[in-house]
This record gives sequence, C-alpha cells and structure tokens, in this order.
Amino acid sequence: MHKNPNDLYSDLRRWVRRLCDRFPGEYWQRVDAEEAYPEAFVQAMTEAGYLAALIPEEYGGGGSTIAEASVILEEVNRSGGNAGVCHAQMYIMGALVRHGSEAQKARYLPPIAAGELRLQAFGVTEPDAGTDTTRIRTLAVRKGDRYIINGQKIWTSRIAHSDLMLLLARTTPLEEVKKRTHGLSLFLVDLRQAVGNGVTFTPIPTMINHHTTQLFIDNLEVPVENRIGEEGMGFRYLLDGLNAERILIAAESIGDGDWFMERAVAYANERIVFDRPIGQNQGIQFPLARAYADLRAADLMRFEAARLFDAGQPCGAEANMAKLLAADAAWDAANAAMQTFGGFGFAREYDIERKFRETRLYQVAPISTNLILAYIAQHVLGMPRSY
Ligand SMILES: Cc1cc2nc3c(=O)[nH]c(=O)nc-3n(C[C@H](O)[C@H](O)[C@H](O)COP(=O)(O)OP(=O)(O)OC[C@H]3O[C@@H](n4cnc5c(N)ncnc54)[C@H](O)[C@@H]3O)c2cc1C
Repeated sequence: MHKNPNDLYSDLRRWVRRLCDRFPGEYWQRVDAEEAYPEAFVQAMTEAGYLAALIPEEYGGGGSTIAEASVILEEVNRSGGNAGVCHAQMYIMGALVRHGSEAQKARYLPPIAAGELRLQAFGVTEPDAGTDTTRIRTLAVRKGDRYIINGQKIWTSRIAHSDLMLLLARTTPLEEVKKRTHGLSLFLVDLRQAVGNGVTFTPIPTMINHHTTQLFIDNLEVPVENRIGEEGMGFRYLLDGLNAERILIAAESIGDGDWFMERAVAYANERIVFDRPIGQNQGIQFPLARAYADLRAADLMRFEAARLFDAGQPCGAEANMAKLLAADAAWDAANAAMQTFGGFGFAREYDIERKFRETRLYQVAPISTNLILAYIAQHVLGMPRSY
C-alpha cells in the first residue's frame, strides 16, 4: 500500500512491528474468546520500554516525544493487535510526570519504567456522572495525614492488572464550591494494599475484551503524600493530560484504519465473484478509497497536533480534531472492510469482526464524538456552550 516517503519514524515502526509479529491474529482471537488479559503482550511491551516511552530519561524512561509515543500505539493496532489493553499507562503517566512532587516521581517512576510496577488504572467515570465529570460524588475527607475515601466508579478498566490507580475524587462537595471544576483532587492509590481494604470491584462483561469493572470504594485510606499536586486542583491536572490522550487515541484509530485497508484491499483483489475480482467493482472500491483518503487527512491532523504538543504550544483544537477525524475514518474503514469481506467478515478467524468491535469503542470512549464536536463549537468557533 501507499507509503509516506517522508516518514520520520520508519525505524521505530519496524521495531514495534517486530515485537507485534510475535502476537499474531490467533493470539488476539484466543485472549478475546477467553476474555483473558493479554499478559504476555503487555509484558513484552513493558520489557521493550514502550510503555515507559513518556517517562523522562532521568527516571529511567524513554523520554520520547508524543509523536513517537503515538507511533508505538499506532503500530500495535496497525499490526492487528489492540493497544487499548495497555495504552492508559502512557497517558495517565502525564499527571504524575507534570504534577507529581519530586518525592512521588522518585518513588514511582523508576519502578514503572523498569516494569516492576504498573500504572494502568484510571478511576474517573461514575454511574451518575457520565461525561459530566464535575458531578462525581466519590468523596475524600481529610483526617490528619490520611484521606478517607468513599464512593463508586464505573468502567474502571484493568484494575485487576495494575498495581496503581489514579483516582479522581471530590475533596469539596459540588454544593460548596464556587466553580464546578474546583474541589476535585487526584490520588495515586496503591492497589496492592487497597484491594480488599476499601476497594472492591466486579467485572463488566462487554462486547470487547477490555477488562473493565465497576468499583466500590468504602472507607479507603490514602496517605496525604499520595495526593497529586494541590488539593482541589485535580480537574485542571486531568484537563492537562487530555491533549496527549486525544493524540494517542487518534494514532490507534489510524493504525486500526490502515489495518482494515490493507486486509480489505488484499481481499478485494483476490476474491473472484462473477468471474472477476470484487475489487474491480466501484461499489467495493469507492468506500475503501474514501476511507483511505479520510485516514490520511486524519493522520496529518494527528502529526500537526503532536508537533504543537511537543513544541509546548496550545493544541486543544488539533488534538480534538485529530481524535474525531481518526475515529470516524477508522470506523468507515471498518465498515468498508466488513462489506468487502462479505460473510467472511463475520468469521472470527479473519479478525475483521474483532477489530470492528474494538474500533467502535473510540466513538464513545474515552470521550464521545458529540462532546468533541461541542468542544470545537464552543472553544474553537466561539459559539455558546451547549452542555
Ligand atoms: C470499554 C470502556 C472502557 C472504559 N474505561 C474507562 C476507564 O478506565 N476509566 C474511566 O474513568 N472511564 C472509562 N470509561 C468510561 C468512558 O470514558 C465513558 O463511557 C465516556 O466518557 C462516556 O460517558 P458515559 O458512558 O457515561 O456516557 P454519557 O455521559 O451518559 O453519554 C451518553 C451519550 O450521550 C451523549 N451526550 C451526553 N451529553 C451530551 C450533550 N450535552 N450533547 C450531546 N451529546 C451528549 C454522549 O456523547 C454519549 O453518546 C470506559 C468506557 C468503556 C465503554
């Protein structure tokens, strides 16, 4: 398939692909069918240092740019895998790197970089708050040198496969703050002690293999030294990390889209019906050609957002547009591939149906398409806030 002759990341792509080649479609089909955590894959990614790409070098990490980190996740999805099983470690890390104290960074970043600790869980969403994060009710009350936390979370993914969790809780109830975004705080919860001692969870079976859970927090004690940054400023720290998250997810979607394109084009050229390859029909060609063009446009926006991010410039508009365009282009590519494969698209052994399910997530999580459109309308175009 067409390649960008100016690709700056061809070595990195090759290294990541070499690792991913050890985890072919059959591996992902098996973990999907068994709803198992792809432990061997995550371990390999950790040992290769990829999940520590965004940790600064002085703490033993890769010190990579967001563009490089995004290429890592892109190549995982481009190879037929699913970076969603471990991507959170990359973007959650930002809160610790940017807003953690020296003591917190020195304590946690080196073992995370060395693969001795996992920071894969992120507890933000609650059953009654949904996208409206400021309405969360989980409450942390300070008692001397600890916080006592009570509440409930939903969709807390990978908690059973992580040592640490970043948790958002209210330290001042919504009714008592001047601004809705105030009074929220971020905590680093050590799950090795907390599970069974204030934290319990139950799995939520879903249409993809995502190891997500419902979380109950009952008198969980967290030392004050595990609060990230200032009390009450957690929402701002969360927002600070969103551009990185958007860029990384956009890259995964582009990887998905290109995987669908490669499979679909190969199949369209091989499959003979009515004495000719189905790819000779414009009804098959055009949806693939359009999805491909949309993918390349989204890819440009992804690298523009990454360039601004890495230069320390504002990139909210570009990061959000990249996520929107990439998720849509990947979903269009998924649909075009499904149609191209006909009945075989539904057969597990072709991986199309699995990737189709996985790709659909990015229309909803970590942020839904509507909320990105609302962001663009309000913050980029200057129209009234709609939500
Ligand atoms: C598999 C999976 C894994 C997840 N992992 C995590 C995790 O690890 N940690 C975590 O904290 N969360 C996680 N989430 C939660 C995810 O971030 C939320 O599902 C997502 O933010 C949407 O919130 P919601 O499901 O409550 O939808 P709601 O907020 O209830 O929204 C439902 C629908 O209404 C639309 N909508 C709502 N308000 C408006 C408006 N004003 N204008 C237009 N449309 C609107 C939304 O776009 C959406 O389509 C996960 C979710 C899934 C499905």
